[in-house]
Amino acid sequence: MIAEIIAAGSEMLTPYRQDTNSLFLTEALNDLGVQVAFKTIVGDNIDHLTGAARIALSRADIVLFSGGLGPTEDDLTREAAAAALGVPLLRSDALLAGLAQRFAARNIPMSPNNAKQADVLQGATILDNKNGSASGQYLDTTLFHSDAPSVRRIVILLPGPPRELKPLFSEQVVPLLAASLPPRFLAKRMLRMALIPESLVDARTAPIYTQYPDVETTILAGSAEIQLHFLAAADTLPAAQARVDELSSRVEAEMVDAIYSSHGESLEEIVLLNLGVRNLTLAVAESCTGGLFAERLTAIPNSSRNFLGGATVYTTELKTLFAGVPKETIDSKGSVSPEVATALAEGIRQRTGASIGIGITGLAGPSGGAPGPDEHRPVGLVYLALATATGTEVKEIQLTGDRDRIRFWASQHALEFIRRGLLL
Ligand code: ATP
Ligand code: MG
Repeated sequence: MIAEIIAAGSEMLTPYRQDTNSLFLTEALNDLGVQVAFKTIVGDNIDHLTGAARIALSRADIVLFSGGLGPTEDDLTREAAAAALGVPLLRSDALLAGLAQRFAARNIPMSPNNAKQADVLQGATILDNKNGSASGQYLDTTLFHSDAPSVRRIVILLPGPPRELKPLFSEQVVPLLAASLPPRFLAKRMLRMALIPESLVDARTAPIYTQYPDVETTILAGSAEIQLHFLAAADTLPAAQARVDELSSRVEAEMVDAIYSSHGESLEEIVLLNLGVRNLTLAVAESCTGGLFAERLTAIPNSSRNFLGGATVYTTELKTLFAGVPKETIDSKGSVSPEVATALAEGIRQRTGASIGIGITGLAGPSGGAPGPDEHRPVGLVYLALATATGTEVKEIQLTGDRDRIRFWASQHALEFIRRGLLL
């Protein structure tokens, strides 16, 4: 069974409003084992809406409409669904009475156009909307074609406001769908990798995932990371889970240490987790990332167990004052140098008493290095150093992009440097 969601509303074709209802509906449908195959956003135009409804009915088993159930001229979902299905709209006396009561209770006169909110697709079940005046509708029907076999279609009309749509869907549509669909369960899994090109991930994993045509594999490139999403459907949850788990473990074996998380955790969480199990603490002296590294770790609750803190040492004076970097090293080697990165990591480790010190220094741009040794160093050049009880390791990286990107990637490299260091 596949579904299509049609979000009606011209406002969602502007840069100012987004269709979020379909995200909620997709998750709820997935939980029922239904895959969303298409989403359409249509403006408040009867021809466009009817056309979209016809297309949806031709290709999806379940068609859900969101919005356009209000009383105004541009609320056209009922009319479009009726035209596309070829069924009449019947005015419900019960709904009409309910609407009249709603207006009476608020002491406002009911204008004649409100009556169309009592129009119901022939054969549809009315879904009561506790949070608004627009009722939903649920129609399980068979469509007859002159030139094709008849097909079963489930058509669902839902109010647009999320605070009306969500409870109505969960409380009334989910039980109806669950009762009429064959049991189908979806299992998901996500693997995350940092600092690795998407093309390389695909080249190495495609030979594996193409052997699992029943599992839908999606590769998503995020900020300085690649995510591999697996989705499988089966008659039982353990059967679906077994398929994604099998594929996932084969991919994990191929990508070995590149995968930092196999259940969706962030890189920050994984670094803290690894520090936690080894009972280690971490401190940072960061220059070009300006606190971003510390911000990312402290965004995780309880990070203070393993992340002590550190210093944002942007000027040369503070590198000396807070991290003990010798002034002569900065003068002779430049701030963006392996020697300064090393001194930052060792200095902050020593001053804080942390088991691990990390130093980050680099050129985030857009202008290049200051006069002196840094003068001809390129924008995007970053040095990271990791100091532990057994010694200090330095890494040189060359990043590209704008200031924001260079700063984020530098923090990502620093986290990944620690994670890989902890694996040894
Ligand atoms: P009513 O007119 O009774 O409030 P309706 O079904 O006609 O209900 P709309 O007029 O289409 O609903 O939308 C009402 C509100 O809900 C608007 O503020 C709109 O931005 C929001 N909305 C509509 N569709 C969506 C959607 N797909 N995602 C998020 N918000 C939506
Ligand atoms: Mg609308």
